[in-house]
Amino acid sequence: MADAAEDKRNQPQDPLIEALRALLGERLSTAQAVREHHGKDASYHAMEAPDAVAFAESTEEVSAIVKLCAQYKRPVIAFGTGTSLEGQVQAAQGGICIDLSNMATILEVNEADLDCRVQAGVTRKTLNTYLRDTGLFFPIDPGADASLGGMAATSASGTNAVRYGTMRENVMGLTVVLADGRVIRTGGRARKSSAGYDLTRLFVGSEGTLGIITEVQLRLYGIPEAMAAAVCSFDTLEGAVDSVILTIQSGIPVARIELLDELQVKAINAYAKLDYPVKPTLFFEFHGTEAWAREQAELVGEITRDYGGANFQWATRQEDRTKLWEARHNAYFACLALKPGSGAWATDVCVPISRLAECILETRKDIDETGVLAPIVGHVGDGNFHLTFVIDPDDPEEMAKAEGVNERMVMRALSMGGTCTGEHGVGTGKMRFLQAEHGDALAVMRQLKVALDPDNIMNPGKILTV
Ligand SMILES: Cc1cc2nc3c(=O)[nH]c(=O)nc-3n(C[C@H](O)[C@H](O)[C@H](O)COP(=O)(O)OP(=O)(O)OC[C@H]3O[C@@H](n4cnc5c(N)ncnc54)[C@H](O)[C@@H]3O)c2cc1C
Repeated sequence: MADAAEDKRNQPQDPLIEALRALLGERLSTAQAVREHHGKDASYHAMEAPDAVAFAESTEEVSAIVKLCAQYKRPVIAFGTGTSLEGQVQAAQGGICIDLSNMATILEVNEADLDCRVQAGVTRKTLNTYLRDTGLFFPIDPGADASLGGMAATSASGTNAVRYGTMRENVMGLTVVLADGRVIRTGGRARKSSAGYDLTRLFVGSEGTLGIITEVQLRLYGIPEAMAAAVCSFDTLEGAVDSVILTIQSGIPVARIELLDELQVKAINAYAKLDYPVKPTLFFEFHGTEAWAREQAELVGEITRDYGGANFQWATRQEDRTKLWEARHNAYFACLALKPGSGAWATDVCVPISRLAECILETRKDIDETGVLAPIVGHVGDGNFHLTFVIDPDDPEEMAKAEGVNERMVMRALSMGGTCTGEHGVGTGKMRFLQAEHGDALAVMRQLKVALDPDNIMNPGKILTV
């Protein structure tokens, strides 16, 4: 919010700032600290501050702000909670950041139809706390307590996408403010529709480059009768990954199946004061009735034994499961603690499940040969894994090594029919790989961008250049 130490730099010379101040009053901030906070995500990417931050409270207000930005042809960058990892919120060309955190109302919950509608600034944890008494939950869990608008904009997923899908499968409709300030509603509450182009999925994953999402209609699920989690360690990384592949190929509907390599286990043990064997490890979660969850667990137990899995440790009590998943969700911060004072660069790729072992093992070999510190962790049930480079972003030699490993990993994933990012999105960090991934389809994306945003004001310089 605006504070006393307003930066007067942009006033009164800047007519856009003046017009926005007339519209929003105290809810427009040009304070340096506020601008800097909004010019940086959770990654190593450098901070690039917007000229001002507008704290919007309604779709109508977002529309009015965008109309003014369109009039002055100035960039507009949406901001949810700033937890993205590929440079998505940087304001490289200045402009106005629209912070949606004040748009945090849960508009409706339709228990009978298992859906709800929320304003874009509602976070996933807030929604789940609100839903608790209904017996329903929203499953997409990127670890960070991100806003649902931001999660839709980055097509986020996370640990239990293997069972429940990603934002792409779980967003039923949107309210979007377009680059000229028009407001449209996409999708609806029907579970399926053949009525024309699927604009919902066009905006999901568009990272604020096509419009600003102000409301999200989401699918909900019944909280399963039973949930059981387990941890299993392996002598080799290959054994762990092969267990995952067979589990998925066997059609066992695990709710979560997460890989941590040896270095990542060492990091979380130290960070969360745990004592898991320092070996490649899988974290599982099973959902269903008591009997069905137990049956899934037994089937997976047999598979892991065949691949050298040992120490199958159970966590059935809520507090034990929470401790386990908290440890997993803190993997990023545990990596940072491996080398105090360092920065972290998290990158992800996703490959077809049959190529997962090859992709991970070649990447691990490359990391070791290059000599960078980079634990591997992954939502491996989807074929998705992450590297977290623990580096000093100001050390060009270290950065060059990490860039080399990242580039080779992406090209390896693409050569296997995979993608340069399974869930973190493109931002500026993955832009250079889109041509290799999409070929001629990238030109069509560019045409769509120009059609919807002819003056290139919506989060310019992200995903693609025009
Ligand atoms: C520790 C940690 C772990 C993570 N793990 C995962 C993971 O497992 N899976 C995963 O998918 N991600 C993960 N992430 C990344 C992050 O949480 C997601 O990218 C998240 O979806 C971003 O949401 P946000 O509200 O923070 O968006 P922001 O970071 O604020 O914005 C992200 C992008 O979306 C745009 N945007 C934001 N809100 C809107 C809107 N309402 N309309 C249009 N555009 C908008 C922004 O302009 C920007 O381009 C992790 C991040 C951290 C820090």
